[in-house]
Amino acid sequence: MKRGASARLNLAALQHNLRVARKAAEGRRVMAVVKANAYGHGMITVAKALQEADGLAVTCLDEALRLRQAGLRQPILVLQGFQQAEQIAFFSQLNLIAVVHCAEQLQMLRVATAPAFQVWLKIDSGMGRLGFAPSEVREVYRQLQGCQAVSGVGLMSHMASADDLDSPATSQQINCFNACTEGLGGERSLANSAALLGWPASHADWVRPGLMLYGANPFVSGSVADWGLRPVMRLSSRLIALKTIPKGQRVGYGGSWVAPETMPMGLVAIGYGDGYPRHAAVGTPLLVAGKRAALIGRVSMDLLNVDLRCVPEAQVGDEVELWGENLSMDEVAQHADTIAYELLCGATKNL
Ligand SMILES: *Cc1c(COP(=O)(O)O)cnc(C)c1O
Repeated sequence: MKRGASARLNLAALQHNLRVARKAAEGRRVMAVVKANAYGHGMITVAKALQEADGLAVTCLDEALRLRQAGLRQPILVLQGFQQAEQIAFFSQLNLIAVVHCAEQLQMLRVATAPAFQVWLKIDSGMGRLGFAPSEVREVYRQLQGCQAVSGVGLMSHMASADDLDSPATSQQINCFNACTEGLGGERSLANSAALLGWPASHADWVRPGLMLYGANPFVSGSVADWGLRPVMRLSSRLIALKTIPKGQRVGYGGSWVAPETMPMGLVAIGYGDGYPRHAAVGTPLLVAGKRAALIGRVSMDLLNVDLRCVPEAQVGDEVELWGENLSMDEVAQHADTIAYELLCGATKNL
């Protein structure tokens, strides 16, 4: 433990959230997304706790290799596929599924002689990111089927706006995907967390939840409680000093916050060097010995200041929860003008 700042994981909550995903997409297979070190939670720990998932998804070959070395046996989808021809042999050797999203990858596959493995053809149905254009899909599909190194072709796409239940974009993407893949065989997959929970028409054969497994809200509004999800990470630290500051005292770098009255203030041993967001605004909630208090001043690298007018009984050594089961990371993310995804990934250093 570093100076009292620590991120603890509740693996029972992780398993609970997987069951929520399963229930919301009943009968479909669940591919748990553990990229970016399982959104900052630790990839191997999380993957081992999610043995019940039907598959795992990571960004690159390197991550898949580490999962296999740790003894994980489920199907693994590599979301960016292979980058060089030399990587192709590992996909069959390690029994990985490669996403094929561009012409260069297709070309490498056409001349590959490695034993055959599964690929998923990635379609850009409106996200404007990785994937073939809908008009190219049939020709690419045909060519993939003709590759000696390919044992089966799945079809996938990714949703840009599923977090907004009022946006017409998701239905348009689903329609686009269905139209350009009509009649083609193979497994299909479209849904991230928000699509899994909010857009049943996107469920297909495999759903690919990430964020919801970690207990954050994948939607632009509402809260995790609406979906019965439980936060997995608890970021906490301790009060290491208390003082009474006079009216007019400037607090923190830039002196941007000024005490409106003589008041109690605490110093918490955590800062942006520990993954707490530097842009957390004055008023961002934190829990001091279980009671809500507010951040004041600018967050430093290893410290932050807290207004203790609501917790005058606070003592040095008291526990401070920055987010966790009692304080939603979505609320903190809003105050920091960011999203839970970024907060979680930033807290990696603590684990
Ligand atoms: C990250 C990612 C997911 C998971 O998204 P969440 O919003 O975290 O559920 C699913 N599919 C792809 C292709 C991704 O990159």
